[in-house]
Amino acid sequence: MRDPQSIAVNEDAHMIPAWSVVVDVAAFVLVEYYFWGILPEQRTHPPPPLGFRIYFNLSWGLLVSLYFLMVGYVSRDAPRRAMSSRFWMVLCFVMPGGIGAVLYFLLRQPVVSRCPACSTHVQSDFHFCPQCDYQLTASCGHCFRTVRASDQFCTRCGHELAEDKMPARLRVLGE
Ligand SMILES: [Zn+2]
Ligand SMILES: [Zn+2]
Repeated sequence: MRDPQSIAVNEDAHMIPAWSVVVDVAAFVLVEYYFWGILPEQRTHPPPPLGFRIYFNLSWGLLVSLYFLMVGYVSRDAPRRAMSSRFWMVLCFVMPGGIGAVLYFLLRQPVVSRCPACSTHVQSDFHFCPQCDYQLTASCGHCFRTVRASDQFCTRCGHELAEDKMPARLRVLGE
């Protein structure tokens, strides 16, 4: 079994992979090089004012590098949601105008996390692990809705949470 601590760290940190940052910077430099180095030589009419050119060129560079940043983010975010990262990366890349990224954010599934005790995939709204009965979130002992670990009373039914015999809140509190 994998160490539950290392799983949490590995899955949460570094949402933007290093390769995507490198591609990002390279794309930005390439775009700037094209606009400042290549394009002016092909121009036949006089260039627009310098301020406009700086604004225009930087905007395009940032837009292009944002695109690659998005693909990098999707490559890390999709597996956390049990979605195909390859499919969504390709979609984000080929759809024009960032439509793929918009679709991704509209359609993405909730984050799937792992039980700290047995590493089973659990959804964010689970109170207990379906495999080992480990308590994942604090819940009211009367109506069984989610409560915050520091609450004294249930916000839905007014039940006094300190009366709960099961270590419901306490186990979460103790972590
Ligand atoms: Zn479990
Ligand atoms: Zn309740």
